[in-house]
Amino acid sequence: MRGLCEALPGLISSFLPKDDEYSVIWALRNFGGDPFVLLVSIVLSQNTSDSNAIRALRNLLEMGLTSPQRVLSSSDEELVDAVRVAGQYSSRVKTLRELARFFVSNPDFVVSICRDVGKTREALLGIHGVGEKTADVFLSVYCEASSVFPVDRHIMRITSRILGRKVSYREASDFWLSCARSVGLPSVYKLHVFLINMGRRLCRPRDPNCTSCPFRNHCSYASLRQYGPAASNEPGSSSQ
Ligand code: SF4
Repeated sequence: MRGLCEALPGLISSFLPKDDEYSVIWALRNFGGDPFVLLVSIVLSQNTSDSNAIRALRNLLEMGLTSPQRVLSSSDEELVDAVRVAGQYSSRVKTLRELARFFVSNPDFVVSICRDVGKTREALLGIHGVGEKTADVFLSVYCEASSVFPVDRHIMRITSRILGRKVSYREASDFWLSCARSVGLPSVYKLHVFLINMGRRLCRPRDPNCTSCPFRNHCSYASLRQYGPAASNEPGSSSQ
């Protein structure tokens, strides 16, 4: 995979993500470095489009529900009204409240978030509704941590196709972390966004555009396709 890793700095240097296509980037630009809002934006982006997540965030902003205290003092109806557009609103409201409770009951958390990334990750994973991807996106953005690599469904699919087998979250994360380290990539989050963009535009769930893909010479799936139609039991297909 050396060739694939070596291609990354050039690919990423010319990639400029638009902030309205990525809710986390939108939140960063509009709320600066507020860790609570950043986590909320990541929770809102789970299993929905970025445009819906941004709409829900805008609603929270307009309703003044962007602090842990305001989230805790608001009614379920208010929160549901704000986040309904992102879908799965009952579980999202529950997670927002859990997050708010965590921030309020751990007042030192904000000042110590980046001191020990492993410890913070563990604490975040203990909050209802916060999974590995949410914790790793947060740490890679807020702390610019280079010890975590967030993996979403697009990155899971790309990695499974490249390696020719279904991979776990940990395997996919380690694969890209090791690739990023081997070529000294300064930002794992930028690689994360680049790969999501690739998954949306080229390595689509159906009919991936391998001929235009910069990874085609290093990809098991593309290599198989040269010899015939894609196999129906494509690796990683069940992770969509
Ligand atoms: S070569 Fe094809 S299957 Fe492989 S990563 Fe690129 S688009 Fe996906």
